[in-house]
Amino acid sequence: MNIILLGPPGAGKGTQSAGLVERHAMVQLSTGDMLRAAVKAQTPVGLKAKAVMDAGELVSDEIVADLIDAELAAMDAGTGAIFDGYPRTASQAETLDGILSKHGRTLDHVIELGVDIDALVERITGRFSCANCGALYHDTANPPASEGVCDSCGHTEFKRRPDDNEETVRTRMAVYRGETAPILPGYEARGIVTRVDGMAGITDVANAIDAVLA
Ligand code: ADP
Ligand code: AMP
Repeated sequence: MNIILLGPPGAGKGTQSAGLVERHAMVQLSTGDMLRAAVKAQTPVGLKAKAVMDAGELVSDEIVADLIDAELAAMDAGTGAIFDGYPRTASQAETLDGILSKHGRTLDHVIELGVDIDALVERITGRFSCANCGALYHDTANPPASEGVCDSCGHTEFKRRPDDNEETVRTRMAVYRGETAPILPGYEARGIVTRVDGMAGITDVANAIDAVLA
């Protein structure tokens, strides 16, 4: 099973990917996570990507295509893939088709997380994650069960993304509207898009996604 989780920044793609990994033993392919790892490791890709990411713009299609291709090459053919944050442009969508067929895979579902754009600034500015395992939280909507302690690994340090500030969020939303949303009609024409209400609670969204995959 190969699926795309599509939605603007803050829609819940990372949160839902983590659930899918747990429930269905799929692998999350988040280009954002891969790029942040490259920035942290100061690889040539990371050095190139940092300023672009901090500004909320998109890194080049080639960079993300190479990252996705390398991850799929390292994966077992039978393991399902969740594309989170990729593709983000018409050109990336076309490239993904080629990469998938190269690896003998086909796209089964595009799940569009429908959200109220106005609610997303609040979601993103309240986002933080465990500094050790990366588990995602929100200040008010999804805090750890025990304050200051990660539910998943018990770690007590957390971090926030440098691009999760109001100004950069506005740019990222505009990029989503201008570059990413226009790839939906192509997938709709293929009959593989299901829209799920991303404004529902995390568990309800997860149940709706599971119903699509069943
Ligand atoms: P994306 O990967 O699409 O950018 P995230 O999964 O990181 O989005 O979610 C953004 C923020 O919103 C996180 O802080 C997360 O805890 C919170 N969040 C995710 N899904 C929901 C939801 N259904 N309701 C409320 N808050 C949510
Ligand atoms: P995300 O974690 O998905 O919110 O992505 C964080 C940032 O990484 C984005 O604002 C972009 O700068 C960059 N990025 C992530 N995925 C892509 C992609 N598919 N194409 C181009 N840039 C990306």
